[in-house]
Amino acid sequence: MPVADQAGPRAGAADLPSLDRLLGTPELHAAVADFGRTQVTAALRRDLDECRTAALAGTLPSDALRPAAFGERIKTGLTERNRATLRPVFNLTGTVLHTNLGRALLPEAAIESVVQALTTPANLEFDLATGGRGDRDDLISPLLCELTGGEAATVVNNNAAAVLLMLATLAKRREVVVSRGELVEIGGAFRIPDIMTHAGAKLVEIGTTNRTHAADYRNAIGEKTALLMKVHCSNYEVTGFTKSVDVSEVVEIAKPHGVPVAVDLGSGTLTPLERWGLPHETTVQETIAAGADLVTFSGDKLLGGPQAGMIVGRKELIARIKKHPLKRALRVGKLTLAALEPVLRLYRDPDHLPERLTTLRLLTRTRAEMAAQAARLVPVLAKSLGDAYTVTAAPMVSQIGSGALPVEQLPSYGLAIAPAGGGKRGSGRALATLEAALRGLPYPVIGRIADQTLWLDLRCLEAQDEMRLSLQFEELRA
Ligand SMILES: *Cc1c(COP(=O)(O)O)cnc(C)c1O
Repeated sequence: MPVADQAGPRAGAADLPSLDRLLGTPELHAAVADFGRTQVTAALRRDLDECRTAALAGTLPSDALRPAAFGERIKTGLTERNRATLRPVFNLTGTVLHTNLGRALLPEAAIESVVQALTTPANLEFDLATGGRGDRDDLISPLLCELTGGEAATVVNNNAAAVLLMLATLAKRREVVVSRGELVEIGGAFRIPDIMTHAGAKLVEIGTTNRTHAADYRNAIGEKTALLMKVHCSNYEVTGFTKSVDVSEVVEIAKPHGVPVAVDLGSGTLTPLERWGLPHETTVQETIAAGADLVTFSGDKLLGGPQAGMIVGRKELIARIKKHPLKRALRVGKLTLAALEPVLRLYRDPDHLPERLTTLRLLTRTRAEMAAQAARLVPVLAKSLGDAYTVTAAPMVSQIGSGALPVEQLPSYGLAIAPAGGGKRGSGRALATLEAALRGLPYPVIGRIADQTLWLDLRCLEAQDEMRLSLQFEELRA
C-alpha cells in the first residue's frame, strides 16, 4: 500500500507504530466508525506488513507512517473492498435481452411487489382459506393457465431446469425423439444432448441437420418412447433446402401411440409481437393450441420477467412433474414469484403492454427517439475524446437477444466511434483501449466493437438514464 519510490527521508522497520497505537488515533476512529473494528484491524495488519517489507527494502517514505496517511490508505482500501460486485452498467451493446448483462429489466409493478416480499411475511405456502399448508405454484399457475390455455403449470429456477425436470420425470431410462436440426446449444452450458444424459433419458436423433420428415418421427416411435420433443432453434436458423415438422403434425403422429409431445420454446412469448411491428415469435398459446402436451419457456427472455422456467400443459403430466424430488431442488424463491405475478398480469391488458413491460418498451423504441438522443450525446463524448477519435451519430441494428429471433434485427440508432485517421495501424488497439476505458468507468458503459468501430447502441438507454450517461462521458476525460 505505501508508495515506495518517493524522494525524501526513508523510515526503518523500527519506526513502525504499533497496531494498538494506530487504532487509538482520531484518523482511524473515523475508519472504525465506517467499517467496524474487525475490518479496520485486519486492514491495518495487512498495511503494516507491507510497510515492514518496504522498510526492510529501504523504500518506505517516512511520510507513509503519519496517522493521516494510514487513515487515508485504510479508508481507500476498505471502500474498494466493500464495493458491490454486482454493479449497474449501461447496456449499449444493442442486445436487449443480453444474458451476460442480466436479461430482462423488470417493470415498476414487479419492483413494488418484490420489495414487499422482501420485507413482509406472505402466504408463500400457506392456504389462507383453510389455514393449512399451501403450494407455491398455486400463486401463479391459474394466471399462467389463463394466459397460455394450458391445464396446469409449474415454475422452477430457469428454463434449463424446466427441461431437466420434465425429462427426468417423464423420460428416465426411456427414449426421447428429437430432430437433428433441433439439437440446440445455448451459451455453451445448455446442450439438449447433455441435458438428456443428466436426466437419464436416451436421446433418439432423427432426420438430418437440414431436413426432418414426418416419417422420421413415425419410424422412431417404439416401446421405449417417452416423449417426442421439439426444441426451438433459439440462436440459429436453418435456411435453404430445409424441412421440419410442425408441432401439430408431430402431435398427430404421437396421438395413436399415447406418447406425449413436449416443446421447449426457449424464449416463448405470451402475446403476438407482430402487433407492434416486431417479427412473429411463436407464442405459448399457439403451441398449446397446436396440441403440445407440455411447453417449457423462460421467464426472463421475451416474457420480460425474472429468471424462471415455466412448464405448462396437461394436468396429469404436470402433477407427476411436481412430485419429482428434483422439483424441490429446482424450485423458485418468493422473490421470483413476487416479481413474476405482476409481470404476467400485465399481459391481461395487451393494449398497455408497450408502456408497462420494460422489455417490450425497449424493443418498440423508435429510431427517431434514439437518433435525438444520439444527437445530444455526440458533442459530449466528442469533447471528452478530443482529436484522437471521431464520434458520429449513426444508424445501427439491435438484436432482441437471448435466442429470440436470432436473425431478425431492429433498426436503432447510436454513436459510432472510430480512431481518427481511419484504419491506420494501431487503430484496433486504440478502439480496444477506449472500450476498456468505458468499461472501467464508475458506471461502466458496455458497447460493441465491429468493423473497426466502437458502437454504442442507444436502444436500451431510456430517457431517465441519459443524463447519467452524459456524466460518465464527461468523467472519461479525467
Ligand atoms: C434460453 C433457452 C433455454 C435455457 O433457458 P434458461 O432460462 O436460460 O435456463 C433452453 N432452451 C431453449 C430453446 C432456449 O432458448
